[in-house]
Amino acid sequence: MKIELNELTHRYDVDVLRDLTITIEGYKSIAIIGVSGSGKSTLLRILSGLEQPTQGRVRVNNHDVTAPEYRNSVGFVFQSHNLFPHLTLLENITIVLEKTRGYSKKDAHEQAQRFLSLLHLGDQTHKLPRNVSGGQAQRASIARALSVDPEVIFLDEPTSSLDPVLTYDVLNAIKELRELGMEFVLVSHVMSFVHDFADYVVFMKDGEIAEHGPPSILEDPQTESLQDFMAKVP
Ligand code: ADP
Ligand code: MG
Repeated sequence: MKIELNELTHRYDVDVLRDLTITIEGYKSIAIIGVSGSGKSTLLRILSGLEQPTQGRVRVNNHDVTAPEYRNSVGFVFQSHNLFPHLTLLENITIVLEKTRGYSKKDAHEQAQRFLSLLHLGDQTHKLPRNVSGGQAQRASIARALSVDPEVIFLDEPTSSLDPVLTYDVLNAIKELRELGMEFVLVSHVMSFVHDFADYVVFMKDGEIAEHGPPSILEDPQTESLQDFMAKVP
């Protein structure tokens, strides 16, 4: 994947992303780390086309992220699953395929079944989100994000609402997907996972990229801010 940020600034009341310019190319799974409030989610939303940057240019795989069709070419998984509560896991996916992708009922059903099975939910497809575990619901969200065949999948702390056992299940599922060749940009606080999973790490501090490089930067941080961060996270 290729990510190009060119003088990217994003402002709410104050600047939360500050004049970021960087090109990252040739990696399949990129992790964004940093303390809470450092701008990770904002950057992820901009990269995925969910939010328009205040200033600057952003391209992902040579697509302008502000182009209206770009948003449809990516998948996004939020901190806690945002499945429709009144629909089964299967229907949560078929509705998206039918309404936004023009799938026939039959094709949508097959595709949904296929991705739920890939996430080890083949026997849970007719359950409502409230009747499965948080980890299963989060895996169903991932299945839904994948079902539209996205070019890149963006995950924002996909396990932050889960206990350690469920976290393990979800992270394992994500690892399997990486092995299938899918491309990810992920925000995570689980450093052991970031270390195994990512082939590039971006460390953010106060709206800036304070350090970036291969996962080995976690063992040997060059900046004081990353040293500090690594000393504090488990
Ligand atoms: P992180 O994901 O690293 O915790 P965020 O990108 O969520 O950081 O937030 C960065 C900063 O932007 C924080 O100070 C946060 O309070 C602020 N912020 C995030 N979203 C909004 C919003 N929709 N409106 C106003 N301020 C926001
Ligand atoms: Mg966040």
